[in-house]
Amino acid sequence: MHNRTILITNDDGLWAPGLELLARVAARFGRVVAVAPDRNRSAVSSALSLHGILRLHPLGEDRYACDGTPVDCVLLGVRSVLEREPDWVLSGINNGFNLGEDVFYSGTVGAAFEGVLQGSKAAAFSMHPKADLAVVEPWLETFLRRWEYQELGPNRIWNINFPKGEPKGFKLCNQDNRQYHNLVEKRVDPRGMPYFWIGGEVGPTYTRAPGSDAEAALDGWVAVTPLRMDLACPEMLAKGEDFNNTFNGNGA
Ligand code: MN
Repeated sequence: MHNRTILITNDDGLWAPGLELLARVAARFGRVVAVAPDRNRSAVSSALSLHGILRLHPLGEDRYACDGTPVDCVLLGVRSVLEREPDWVLSGINNGFNLGEDVFYSGTVGAAFEGVLQGSKAAAFSMHPKADLAVVEPWLETFLRRWEYQELGPNRIWNINFPKGEPKGFKLCNQDNRQYHNLVEKRVDPRGMPYFWIGGEVGPTYTRAPGSDAEAALDGWVAVTPLRMDLACPEMLAKGEDFNNTFNGNGA
């Protein structure tokens, strides 16, 4: 049971407390190899470094800092450090939620998607910025003890968000929608030149649709969302005849 190989990474950097907890809990399930960015690389999604060299700095047994993105870390971990696909690729625990459309920007989620592309079971973990890691720990362990009993199809990952405070339980969720305010802020530097700051100072607000990840996480549940990489819209694909009439027909 405990001979698994587990690759862990994150987008907050190798020294983030969330990664430390993930490493400690994952070690109860197998050999843990950590390959993580040498600085905060949040919101780089699935970015790959194709136009520069990458360095891997060994920092003790099975622990490496990499000067690339979270996806670079997964690739180097699988192809260079382990030289085979690990059983699990775990990413996080991110300092801050990844709910709704956050998952498109998140480096935490991007790394987990790279994990399934490399042939491993993969999950992304995030938490409320004020969540207590000591409270999260047993819930993370429970998830890892049980997640192999729930099979996901190919190219799918689990996206887990831990709430603030003692969770009420695990809840299977859909994705919510979010709205960001003051998305681009323009300021002026001491030399009078304008600069821009993305994200603004107010955090996102969520629709909190019933059954959604944001509703669950903000209501105190561990929000568990199965995510897929194949984004094609099934409702439109079911209307092939309609499409052909529009684009291939003889109409106006
Ligand atoms: Mn982050």
